[in-house]
Amino acid sequence: MLETDRALYIRQNPYEDSPQPIPNSRATISAPHMHALSLCELLPEPGASVLDVGCGTGYLVSCFARLVGVQGIVVGIDHIPTLTDLARSNIASDLGVRETGGKIEIVTGDGRLGYPAAAPYDAIHVGAAAPRVPDALIDQLKMPGKMYIPLGEAGGDQHMWVVTKDRTGKITKKKTIGVRYVPLTDA
Ligand code: SAH
Repeated sequence: MLETDRALYIRQNPYEDSPQPIPNSRATISAPHMHALSLCELLPEPGASVLDVGCGTGYLVSCFARLVGVQGIVVGIDHIPTLTDLARSNIASDLGVRETGGKIEIVTGDGRLGYPAAAPYDAIHVGAAAPRVPDALIDQLKMPGKMYIPLGEAGGDQHMWVVTKDRTGKITKKKTIGVRYVPLTDA
């Protein structure tokens, strides 16, 4: 995160530990402490493949890209085209000539369906709250693989869940901290 300058992703109060509204959208960039928690929880190894659902500004995509390095791949998906354009230009301003050389793909589409073209993933991060874990995202986890996802209703009771798939394909879900996210919804 120290290598990923938040000011390249959000102009308003980039160094405050609070969420900020993304201009011309109803989305927000999460607070740095939330991004830190997500990165620590998933902590992909060099060479891993990562899917970031609801990639917004693209900040977390770049953090993941720095973790997975040259052999890794990071896919960011968002359903709002202006946001995927924003993510692409933010990431280009940061990782323009990518020092790590790994692969980053920013896709416009419904993140509830994941992104089968690059599946399966070692790690899936979801940046918007769903009523339940989308089946497609579970299907697209590697064995073993890990997902970090906020579950719960918009404006209601929401928590981060850690969903793991083990080597045999067994799924385990663990409820963690209370949070407040925008909904994972229709465009
Ligand atoms: N993690 C990002 C943005 C978080 S805001 C950041 O910190 O910058 C949540 C994002 O989820 C928004 O950009 C919103 O457009 C996106 N989103 C909501 N529902 C979605 C869906 N069904 N598919 C893809 N993206 C979705």
